[in-house]
Amino acid sequence: MTDVIIAGGGPTGVLLACELRLQGVSVVVLEKDAEPTRVVRGLGLHARTLEILDQRGLLDRFLPLGKQYPVGSFAGITKPAPTGLDTTHPYVLGVPQPVTERLLRERAAELGVEVRYGHEVAGLSQDDDGVRVELADGTHLAARYLVGCDGGRSTVRRLLGIGFPGEPSRQETLLGEVRLTAPPATIEAVVAEVRETHKNFGAIPLGDDLYRVGAPADGVAEDRTVPPTLDDLREQVRAVAGTDLGMHSPRWLSRFGDATRLAERYRDGRVLLAGDAAHVHPPYGGQGLNLGVQDAFNLGWKLAAEVHGWAPAGLLDSYAAERRPVAAAVLDNTRAQTVLLSPEPGPQAVRRLLAELMALDDVRRLLVEKVTATGIRYDVGGGPGYELLGRRMPDVALRDGRLYERMHAGRGLLLDRTGALSAGGWADRVDRVVDVVPPDGGGAPDDGSAPDDGSAPDDGGASAPPSVLLRPDGHVVWAGTDQADLLGPLNRWFGTGSAAV
Ligand SMILES: Cc1cc2nc3c(=O)[nH]c(=O)nc-3n(C[C@H](O)[C@H](O)[C@H](O)COP(=O)(O)OP(=O)(O)OC[C@H]3O[C@@H](n4cnc5c(N)ncnc54)[C@H](O)[C@@H]3O)c2cc1C
Repeated sequence: MTDVIIAGGGPTGVLLACELRLQGVSVVVLEKDAEPTRVVRGLGLHARTLEILDQRGLLDRFLPLGKQYPVGSFAGITKPAPTGLDTTHPYVLGVPQPVTERLLRERAAELGVEVRYGHEVAGLSQDDDGVRVELADGTHLAARYLVGCDGGRSTVRRLLGIGFPGEPSRQETLLGEVRLTAPPATIEAVVAEVRETHKNFGAIPLGDDLYRVGAPADGVAEDRTVPPTLDDLREQVRAVAGTDLGMHSPRWLSRFGDATRLAERYRDGRVLLAGDAAHVHPPYGGQGLNLGVQDAFNLGWKLAAEVHGWAPAGLLDSYAAERRPVAAAVLDNTRAQTVLLSPEPGPQAVRRLLAELMALDDVRRLLVEKVTATGIRYDVGGGPGYELLGRRMPDVALRDGRLYERMHAGRGLLLDRTGALSAGGWADRVDRVVDVVPPDGGGAPDDGSAPDDGSAPDDGGASAPPSVLLRPDGHVVWAGTDQADLLGPLNRWFGTGSAAV
């Protein structure tokens, strides 16, 4: 029997498949569409996603294909990037979603993942041993677990009867890649003028006379899966801009709404939800794909541990415990951005006020941390009060290379700064990387990993950075120097160690 079936071959499903394969789990991805879509939804990758790609050795495939933009925007209010962001990648990488999806699919293929196109999940049942999935063509497939990564209208979520409370779509936007015959200067001037009042109008040049054009729709479509026609888009552009800018020859047309919803639960027995299947929100700040990919990164190793039988109690449920509040916070910041983008006088006044506040570095940092997920800190339990606990470990320079290069295999990692620690009983799950900093610090790389906030425990004045235990998703679950203290977190996150050691 296959270990895991993933419903949905979007970015969440494919990255999850990669993470599972990396852990030796067998996986099949079922995708209802006959082929990958041409529609460009997401346009950018944020810091935490770039770190994830870096940790798995994939970032070099993305960097040459995207332009780097500064961070510092909220609701379209653009200010200089804040200082002190907790990331080695303090920029947005502009990569169209189909390119991201293609690169992830290529990686999945290398790892032996099978994506079955034209395979729509239509029914499911589960018992103590596994899940039986029914396809739209009436055939069946069985697996030990099923993950619904099947987007905002998730069939898996509906079949489980999991509620999806929130606000329905009230404002829809028509979107398409079309050719415009109006001169670029005219287009620029029209866009600048209309955006004074209609923030969801835009025409982004893509080269030659091709533009990504968005315009507010007239009402909300009954079935958003039906794309608008060129005439629909033309009419709405005329309605707000007074001209259709000479629009013709669409490459694709689409529509999106501003529904904001969060699944009541992320798990029902052997079935889990991830990505848009678990949360939807307006696209402001470009967060949805990033959020889904980061769900997958959190879930992959935990589900693999369950499949392999070493998962400690509660590990799989920590996925929802950690990720659902993150999604709730994203929903909230997009609600706020939606209000700030309204042309009404009240929201416009709040927008002007926020623009003034964003002159302050601390305000910009707070907002950017929300949008880029760099502010996330999971509750991983107590321990010596290192500021790093629960946060993602930054990529630090080692005496031999850098930390993220040691995480390509997707295993836990003990970064031993003493040379005397051991994760030997967990050697099948946790790698040990020894990187001892001499007592005088002589020649040690300036890696910035030592907490600089005075939160390190009093260890007799040692200035060396602490040793850390990292989960496969890079979050720090222990920081210290004492082997005895390390055993609790090893057991809690990696299960019982092998008796042989
Ligand atoms: C205009 C717009 C701009 C956006 N910009 C950004 C951005 O800049 N940055 C960002 O991070 N996010 C952005 N987003 C959000 C982003 O596009 C989504 O959050 C992201 O695609 C979610 O990925 P997913 O894999 O969870 O779901 P999806 O990409 O929706 O993939 C789900 C897949 O499941 C398949 N499926 C559905 N039902 C079934 C079934 N029954 N059986 C099998 N397969 C099924 C679908 O065909 C689809 O391929 C934007 C969204 C929009 C609309």
